[in-house]
Amino acid sequence: MSAERSFAREVEQLRLGAGETFHGEGILAVTKALLQSGVAYVGGYQGAPVSHLLDVLVDARELMGEMGIHVETCANEAAAAAMLGASVNYPLRGAVTWKSIVGTNVAADGLSNLASPGVIGGALIVVGEDYGEGASVIQERSLAIAMKSGIWLLDPRPNLTSIVEAVEHAFPLSEASSAPVMMQLRVRACHVQGSFTARDNIAPLVNTRDRFAEPAAFDYARLAHPPVTFAQEKRKLEQRLPAAQAYIREHGLNERFDGDIGRIGLILQGGLYNTTLRRLQALGLADAFGASRIPLLVLNVVHPLVPDQIEAFCAGKDAVLIIEEGSPEYIEQQVNVILRKADIQARIHGKGLMPAAGEYTAQAIGDGLVGFLEATMPPGVDMAPVARAREASRRAREGGEAALPVALPPRPPGLCTGCPERPVFSAIKILEREIGRVHIAADIGCHALATFEPFSMGNSILGYGMSLASAAAVAPFQEKRSISIMGDGGFWHNGLATGVIGTLLNEGDSVLVIMQNGFTSATGQQYIPSSARGKGGRAPGMEIEATLRALNVPWLRRVRTYSITEMIDALREALTTKQKGLKVIIAEGECQLARQRRLRAENAEKLARQERVALPRFGVDAEICTGDHSCIRLSGCPSLTVKPNPDPLRDDPVATVREDCVGCGVCGEVAHAAALCPSFYRAETVRNPGPWERGVARLRRAVIGAIGGGAP
Ligand code: SF4
Ligand code: SF4
Repeated sequence: MSAERSFAREVEQLRLGAGETFHGEGILAVTKALLQSGVAYVGGYQGAPVSHLLDVLVDARELMGEMGIHVETCANEAAAAAMLGASVNYPLRGAVTWKSIVGTNVAADGLSNLASPGVIGGALIVVGEDYGEGASVIQERSLAIAMKSGIWLLDPRPNLTSIVEAVEHAFPLSEASSAPVMMQLRVRACHVQGSFTARDNIAPLVNTRDRFAEPAAFDYARLAHPPVTFAQEKRKLEQRLPAAQAYIREHGLNERFDGDIGRIGLILQGGLYNTTLRRLQALGLADAFGASRIPLLVLNVVHPLVPDQIEAFCAGKDAVLIIEEGSPEYIEQQVNVILRKADIQARIHGKGLMPAAGEYTAQAIGDGLVGFLEATMPPGVDMAPVARAREASRRAREGGEAALPVALPPRPPGLCTGCPERPVFSAIKILEREIGRVHIAADIGCHALATFEPFSMGNSILGYGMSLASAAAVAPFQEKRSISIMGDGGFWHNGLATGVIGTLLNEGDSVLVIMQNGFTSATGQQYIPSSARGKGGRAPGMEIEATLRALNVPWLRRVRTYSITEMIDALREALTTKQKGLKVIIAEGECQLARQRRLRAENAEKLARQERVALPRFGVDAEICTGDHSCIRLSGCPSLTVKPNPDPLRDDPVATVREDCVGCGVCGEVAHAAALCPSFYRAETVRNPGPWERGVARLRRAVIGAIGGGAP
């Protein structure tokens, strides 16, 4: 599924048998665990941090074929959720994956309609919980969706053995309770390195070769359709919930670690175990092997809770701290209710000592533990390390910045060097000098990086592929047309239906720019329906232009992004023409990251064959550069920077191009389109030149030498 990265080593590990050791990342351990669980079908939609799960399985076509497992790259998360419908009627185990919370939101309709009738075959949804520092999406949790739909949520301890066991329990848990199961893996859990002892893979009994002879019998009770939905709601609460709680209890999915300081305890999400234990160790309350002096109840299943486990853990304690990331504090509220009903008097601490919002980093959990110990002063705890930790935390908060010799400049992420999307924003910036600012509806994808300097473009981001739809009620109130930016990934994911068809249906009059770079670039260059090649090297054969023409889009242009003058002309016409209706510019330019990876491999092969390889790059003539740096402000290329002025009579630093320039030519185009200066030049580094090129080079050197220049 992914364009250039090879998963050959990971694919090999999928064949490991019982007793062999799997080494690697948490998310790749999940792929092996799925095969060990007898999964019959797998699907999903790409998104960090779970992209590799599907990438590896797609690359493991041969093994999947041998085992009769169906693998589907879904058009979006809603399609992936709907795919689990196979488990509603058939004893087939299935798993899908996506990035959460965004993907879970997109899938919410399908998930509701799956959870209501329930499943016969185990159904697992692996979500990459992109929450906290460094996350790339809105800060919400999957727990809310799981709770409202009656989907059980696993949050295993972040080590490979626990993650694999969680997957292997997920299917029987799902089948025992007829409910789908979700497993959340935080970013760190996805990338945690480790090992586990493998088991043999289990081929599904019914598979793509040994098929069902007949479809399932008609059963109205398996439809998410009234009136049976009323009975399904009761069944969720009266049958499925107790069945799930019984499975969790009987199979020890939650873990209890007893310690000698029995007057207090910690109840924590499994995913926060490593950080909590490390902080306890720093306070002298745990050792490096996991022995904690404070009793722990580790919830590897955060929904549903098992009341008698909570009661048994809290009975006889003075106070318990709930370590639950994010808000609302669903677990804390439930624990309070469980204890009040059981008349257990342990005082519950949670939010207040712990932050209400944000990732539970080592600092956040450490501060919470210190606050809890200070509030409870349990006998047997040496408070000296606690006091030292409090002081260290205060110093870190108050003096953190002063501890650095100089304040670090902010380093927002940016478009890659030579990115084909950058020139589109340069063109808009140049055009805005002429026609003034316009409303820009931004979207999810690499192009969202243009919301940072030097472009600072985008008035809203409402979801993946939603830019055009988000401008629907803006356009009627603006004198000037608005511009919606969308990637080709976003177009196929959602933008075609919600944006293009919606605008055509309502005769909207705005401008859509579709960045056609050929991949879902931001998540690792996965193929999309309009990629030049897809699974197995075959082009999927769906074109954005043909699709738009079939829909009778009234105004359509296809412009190469690097041609800035042409792009400016197209944008100007789209924004100012008297013609009403949707105007679409397909901004075409292959993702530079994918291109460079492709070229690197191709060039290496050419060099090995002693063939000619020419690498273009741009430069700035320091003697001509005026030092006003407009080129940098208008292009923002990371390869374009400044250096001291070689002219002793001038102070201003001059622009210069670094070694990582890929020769896309945008800086030169920008300089030309914005009538800046003629200081940019293009050069080529040639490896294995032919006799003609060698001769010309020799001649040039001789002429330049004769007129007094240095060696070129
Ligand atoms: S990954 Fe591709 S599309 Fe994204 S910023 Fe880099 S070059 Fe541009
Ligand atoms: S040609 Fe210019 S814009 Fe393109 S990568 Fe090189 S310095 Fe950057």
